Amino acid sequence: MRLQGKRAFVTAAGQGIGRAIAEAYLREGALVVATDLNADLLHGLDGADTAALDVTDKAALTTAIQNASPDVLVNCAGFVHAGALLEATDADFDFAFTLNVRSQFHTMQAALPGMLERGGGSIVNIASVAGSIVAAPNRCIYGASKAAVIGLTKSVALDYVTKGIRVNAICPGTVDSPSLHDRLRAMGDYDTARKAFEARQPMGRIGTAEEIAHLAVYLGSDESAFTTGQAHVIDGGWAVG
Ligand code: NAD
Repeated sequence: MRLQGKRAFVTAAGQGIGRAIAEAYLREGALVVATDLNADLLHGLDGADTAALDVTDKAALTTAIQNASPDVLVNCAGFVHAGALLEATDADFDFAFTLNVRSQFHTMQAALPGMLERGGGSIVNIASVAGSIVAAPNRCIYGASKAAVIGLTKSVALDYVTKGIRVNAICPGTVDSPSLHDRLRAMGDYDTARKAFEARQPMGRIGTAEEIAHLAVYLGSDESAFTTGQAHVIDGGWAVG
């Protein structure tokens, strides 16, 4: 078991990629604290400590993370704003950056002191291939926020590289999750929208949350001991060109 005995803290573990990561970490022997804004979604994560946590609440996340003293921190909470520049508002921008970026800034600040004291730790930040790797239509705010996640990841990785701390980003392509279905429905014609999303993936299909979780297991585990500060792309070939 690749995460045997490691303490892991996962945000947005109620559904989608976060849920799959929490489940995979439990299977790999980690002691998991699984959190989500909506605590009801955490039912069924047997073996995990579960708790409601809004990652935009700095005081709450700081207490929760300090209590958990994680060896592995997985920052999964994020929101997809849809719209081109002229449809986007300041409120949209602030909400996305608060949830997608500032929350990771705060969770890393909360987790790092304990990791440094124990001589090591791995942080896995969920970014996206949409942003600084490829541009996706109607994703200007989302793409900018996920590009910021990659920038934050690289900077923190560099600053603590000699201290046993590793910080990596995962950049998924389109992945099947409850919010993906909401986004496809919001585009008007679900089937047409789904076909368009599938078509932009050279593999011709959408990814699964479990496929992303495999990478998160690797990055959380000591198997990835020689990698830090990287944006790990897992996207069905979308970014190939
Ligand atoms: P999702 O969007 O279906 O679920 C998101 C989860 O986040 C929900 O359980 C929700 O309750 C929780 N959440 C929302 N606001 C929160 C908050 N303030 N604090 C804590 N939890 C909160 O899941 P998903 O689509 O797998 O997305 C997870 C992450 O992966 C996001 O960061 C997303 O941007 C990223 N991502 C997703 C895809 C995709 O295609 N699904 C692609 C690339 C990146």
